[in-house]
Amino acid sequence: MRNKIIALAKSTGADLVGFAPASRFDKEDEIFKIFPDTKTVIGFGFRVLRGSYRGVEEGTTYYQYSTMGVENLEETVMPMCQIRVAMMMEEEGAIAVPQRRHQQIMKEENSTNPEKDYTEIFRGVENEHQMNFADAAVKCGLGEIGFSGALLTDEFGPFVRYCFILTDAELEETPVKTPHLCDNCGKCKKACPGNAIKDEGGIEPWQCATYYNGANGTKNPFMAPDHFADFENRIEIISGEAKVDPELAKKILDACYCYPPIGHKYRSSICGRACDRACYVHLEEKGLLTKAFQTPFRKREEWKFDVEDFKE
Ligand code: SF4
Ligand code: SF4
Repeated sequence: MRNKIIALAKSTGADLVGFAPASRFDKEDEIFKIFPDTKTVIGFGFRVLRGSYRGVEEGTTYYQYSTMGVENLEETVMPMCQIRVAMMMEEEGAIAVPQRRHQQIMKEENSTNPEKDYTEIFRGVENEHQMNFADAAVKCGLGEIGFSGALLTDEFGPFVRYCFILTDAELEETPVKTPHLCDNCGKCKKACPGNAIKDEGGIEPWQCATYYNGANGTKNPFMAPDHFADFENRIEIISGEAKVDPELAKKILDACYCYPPIGHKYRSSICGRACDRACYVHLEEKGLLTKAFQTPFRKREEWKFDVEDFKE
């Protein structure tokens, strides 16, 4: 069945497939609350098309990344692959429990998901179990977690999304990768237009949401010169230097949506995942990515507007 799973997943859109035995997970792990008979976790990785970042890289078109790189993968390609593989497994008599991140449900009382409108998120939801997706991706041998918190893969660096199937079938395991991609270069942190990557690594979600949605005017082609007129610290916000708490983040977000949302309630990424692009460029320059292209991803110096243009 293992080979059939890999072949079907790859023919229905997955690029990476990995298998983690249940023994790699703590007994208290959410996967056992979701499906106590779990014997194997199957991880599926899907490349985010390098071309879908082109518009945000050049500052020329913005909805391509958020539709092709986020919404269509999450809502069409990934579930289609999961359902086809799960159907085949059920035909073979195994139980297959698909697991995909619910982008709008959070256990935390006061966190957010930058890819969704903060008002659309249900917080403090206790009785909904969600597995730790990044941890499971590592345990399935798909890649390693970088300083930014993103999953880094040998093939596509951070340009990847992932989902899972829990099953009662025992399937041969994939080795866990020894971390070798992230060298703590800090380029992801430096590239973020809103300083949302913490000194110790990982992302501060409200800071990220604020700048994912375009609060930095020097990296937002849709922001008017007099934007944020009601904010005392408007230049601090526009230059990406403002430190936001959840209340300020909400106020800024209410005032900074200046580009239409994508379907399925996804927000458009105005930062264009600058952290992941910087990481990808770094890994490509170091020759670490196995999926090679004829030309490098970064073709010219990064563009930026002058913050002076926003001053009166
Ligand atoms: S940019 Fe550098 S520090 Fe950040 S995740 Fe990539 S390799 Fe690690
Ligand atoms: S570059 Fe964008 S996605 Fe990455 S941490 Fe900064 S705001 Fe968040």
